[in-house]
Amino acid sequence: MRRYLIAGNWKMNTDRSTGVALATAIAEQAADLKDVDLLVCPPSIYLAPVAQALAGKAVALGAQNMYFEDNGAFTGEVSSAMLTDVGAEYVILGHSERRHILGETDQDVNKKTLKALAAGIAPIVCVGEKLEEREAGETAAVNRRQFEAAFEGVTAEQATSVVIAYEPVWAIGTGKVATPEQAEEVHADLRQLLTDRYNAEIAGQVRILYGGSMKPGNAAELMAQPNVDGGLIGGAALKAEDFIGIAKAA
Ligand code: 13P
Repeated sequence: MRRYLIAGNWKMNTDRSTGVALATAIAEQAADLKDVDLLVCPPSIYLAPVAQALAGKAVALGAQNMYFEDNGAFTGEVSSAMLTDVGAEYVILGHSERRHILGETDQDVNKKTLKALAAGIAPIVCVGEKLEEREAGETAAVNRRQFEAAFEGVTAEQATSVVIAYEPVWAIGTGKVATPEQAEEVHADLRQLLTDRYNAEIAGQVRILYGGSMKPGNAAELMAQPNVDGGLIGGAALKAEDFIGIAKAA
């Protein structure tokens, strides 16, 4: 059975002391949550102090991005080995802000996914359509294209380590959450794509998170959908009470 995963994407927020305080507060309040995995993804520069704050605690650490080369002349980039070195177990890849603001391509996301898997880091592969794509009836095609590109070359054995996050771009940071039915439709499509590419057993093990204006007040109905296995949370991940409130709704 799949365990719920509640992941906080802090984006370019917090500083050293507020980041450590947030992680510490989450870890304290997480103590009696048994049936859900918790993950925080601070900015790369604060991974190390947050890792220290989370040592021995039931909250995992993840990064928001990484590069696909091992080392060398790639100014400003961070490698998979560097993430492992500071204790990151997950990495968010292909977030829509990286795709649409920073120009990341489907091929970049694929190379990063393969590199993360080779390094033993669980990739959280983000997919999602823009508003104009949804309005043009392209939702399924866009998510399929992003899914197929990201999973190119991922073996059946590796596939169960991948987490998928469906984040409709129009729902991110807008307060406009997808309805549970809209989310479930895409999640079920993604599960079917996994079945077609691998098999039903593998597809049944992969966690598919929803992201986009998830809050304590709307989390329960989203996660009640059969194919919604947790959330990738932005704004509400910056307050321990909200983040834990979402985890309690799982
Ligand atoms: P919000 O929860 O702020 O809408 O952000 C969602 C997101 O992009 C998580 O990766």
